[in-house]
Amino acid sequence: MRGTIVTVDNGARVIADGAVAVAGGEIVAIGPFADLRADAPRAQVIGSVDALVTPGYVNAHQHLTGDRLIASCIPDDIDSQAAIFDWAVPVHTAHTGDDDELSATLASIAAVRNGITCTIEAGTVAHPDRVAAGAQAVGMRLGLGQWGWDVADAPFAAPAHEVVARHADLLDRYPPGGLVEAWVTLVGHDLMSDELAADASELARSRGARMTFHLSPHAGDAASYLARTGRRPFVHLDSLGVLGEHVLVAHAVHLDDAEVEVVLRTRTAVAACPWAYLRLAQGVTRAGRHGELFASGGRLALGCDAENAGDAVDVLRAAALFVGLERDRAGDPASLTAHHGLELATIRGAEAIGKASVLGSLEVGKHADLVVHDTSDVQWTPRSVDPVRQLIWASDGRSVRDVLIAGRQVVRDGRCITVDLDGLRAEATARRDHMLRSRT
Ligand SMILES: [Zn+2]
Repeated sequence: MRGTIVTVDNGARVIADGAVAVAGGEIVAIGPFADLRADAPRAQVIGSVDALVTPGYVNAHQHLTGDRLIASCIPDDIDSQAAIFDWAVPVHTAHTGDDDELSATLASIAAVRNGITCTIEAGTVAHPDRVAAGAQAVGMRLGLGQWGWDVADAPFAAPAHEVVARHADLLDRYPPGGLVEAWVTLVGHDLMSDELAADASELARSRGARMTFHLSPHAGDAASYLARTGRRPFVHLDSLGVLGEHVLVAHAVHLDDAEVEVVLRTRTAVAACPWAYLRLAQGVTRAGRHGELFASGGRLALGCDAENAGDAVDVLRAAALFVGLERDRAGDPASLTAHHGLELATIRGAEAIGKASVLGSLEVGKHADLVVHDTSDVQWTPRSVDPVRQLIWASDGRSVRDVLIAGRQVVRDGRCITVDLDGLRAEATARRDHMLRSRT
């Protein structure tokens, strides 16, 4: 890979006219292009002197099914509860295994096209093997979960011990470390009993796996926990021993001071999905604490959530928005910069999902997950003296030209080359119509 190499390593090295050499799915050398070319004169070169090369982006919270087949169909003038229970749940209920695979394939294409090389699924999957097949066909790295809740009369619900047993089985089939690896995944919110939360967390801990669930994107979760337990959600889950380094909580927007302390003390990671909070009017501009978590050394990643909650599967757009929101909340332009945005999309995201040793920066020995940005388009003209500033504030996934995941090229010249999108278009439209009819 040739271009300006933005390593996002400890020294935040940027190498003009540099190169990254890849072999066996790993990065084997980084340095000036001329030097690496001299060592490997016949190696294939992707990129050019004018390109920008970054680590692959981490999307730490993305629904791969359901919303994709009704992308941007859910109205934007209803609240999140109506969006979930009047739209998402009936559509998910109507999903067949074929729909799950089609949906995950489309979502994975959308991801890699925008430079996302690793996605953590958000926990609403009925047919995990079909979702795995979709991601594998595209070639995307995936943390895979499945529906996990013990709620009366809800689709895919089961008693706590059955939910945990399903996850144990998924961990057997997709062990940690693979291109697709299982995560213990619950829907979360107030849709899990104490028994389910505690046992699922213990399962993840005992298997060296990761756990994720939704909590507190809005004030409703706190109200519900207070009514049921007398404690706010993070304080209550901490008292059960659920939280810890192995846990990635999606959202954590509405926290009080004690909950901020719990998140920081337990080293629990948070996936922030800023576009979803704005799309769903969830109060992040008034109540959000993500900037404080970041400033206090908390573990933060970015997510794009769903195609009806932010809609675009583009971590660079989320990075710009996150940085902008938190700068405004702090009233301080020095509080977060474009460089922090890129870190959140790469190395900090990798750290939050427990993979900083193998993902998130361009360093010898890490997985060869790389993105080449074409900088010939007008948003890059003229080039800034700081390519990261221009990438975050002026561009986004539009400029992604080539993507490698584990050394395999999955995007070339701006198109996914592992799966043909054109071949899926008619079926996607037909299944959209079916899903929309299923609501009535
Ligand atoms: Zn979600």
